[in-house]
Amino acid sequence: MKAVRRPMFWYGLAMWVLSVVISTLLIQLGALIMSDVPTAGKRIAQNDFVNTTELAAIDTAIAQTERLLADKTHEIEDARFVLRSRTLDYQNQRASFENWVKTRSATGADDQNSEVVERVRAIELLKQEERDAGRLVEDLQQEVVAAKRKLQDLRGERSAILAAANAPYQKAQKREVLKVFLFRLVLTLPLLLIAGWLAMKKRQSSYWPVYRGFIIFALFAFFVELVPYLPSYGGYVRYIVGILLALILAHFATRGMARYLQKKQSEEQRPETEKRKLIEYETAIKKISDGVCPSCDRQFGAQNSRKADSTPAANVDFCVHCGFCLYNSCDNCGQRENSFYKFCGACGVPAQKVTP
Ligand SMILES: [Zn+2]
Ligand SMILES: [Zn+2]
Repeated sequence: MKAVRRPMFWYGLAMWVLSVVISTLLIQLGALIMSDVPTAGKRIAQNDFVNTTELAAIDTAIAQTERLLADKTHEIEDARFVLRSRTLDYQNQRASFENWVKTRSATGADDQNSEVVERVRAIELLKQEERDAGRLVEDLQQEVVAAKRKLQDLRGERSAILAAANAPYQKAQKREVLKVFLFRLVLTLPLLLIAGWLAMKKRQSSYWPVYRGFIIFALFAFFVELVPYLPSYGGYVRYIVGILLALILAHFATRGMARYLQKKQSEEQRPETEKRKLIEYETAIKKISDGVCPSCDRQFGAQNSRKADSTPAANVDFCVHCGFCLYNSCDNCGQRENSFYKFCGACGVPAQKVTP
């Protein structure tokens, strides 16, 4: 049975909607602020830590050597072509000379010595040209090999320069992560502190729905704007923060429970008329119909307590744990009623103040 007035339910729901709307607006405002604030400065890259003058020099040298290599390769192609044609010239000349010598010895003409000498000289000249062409090809080949080796060395130096930038880059990156995190912590921590204070002190305030919206916003900021930016240091920090949070939660839960028990114990010491005044009407009606003592919060009737519209523990009028009066009888008609009812449900006469 519920004694809460119907509009109160809708009022509560509307206040929750209000809280959510306020938190959404705050979250969007926060996101806008975060996007306008330069959180990380410019993003750092490994290239920022490379010795650029050295790298530029190496790159120029590599480009030069590559151009040289390409030129030499072309030259080799041309020289090989020349060599081939020189070889062919020489072989043709030689073959025709041999034929000429054969016909000459066959005809027996001896008066052409000067011509022989001249032709031999021409052949030797061709041979010489072939040899020169061959030497040119060899020289070029050596140059190409040298250029290739130089290119290899230069590329090695280049990767060494890049590798040297790696360590300072990693260090700077770690520093950057820490900086971003601290910046966000500075923004988020005051929100969390205010939210914690509101949650502890302002729950009874008429502005509680607004404060609740702020608390939702602070929690969102903590989990979305701060936690993902925790520096990991190999996962250590995340686990430590998780453990700390669990400890804080456990601390507050235990303290809250201890406070509650203390409050209940001091309440139990008081006379029942005083206890009744401390208990809210709606809560008392609901608790008694649920089979729970509104004074000590213990269950007084185990049987039937879950069934709706059945009087829990039909024969229990007083709490078996603390002696609190749960049910009494109407002075006018004798009907057994919840002791918090203000009027008798059977005859409508105002219920008497309970005197247990
Ligand atoms: Zn009790
Ligand atoms: Zn009555």
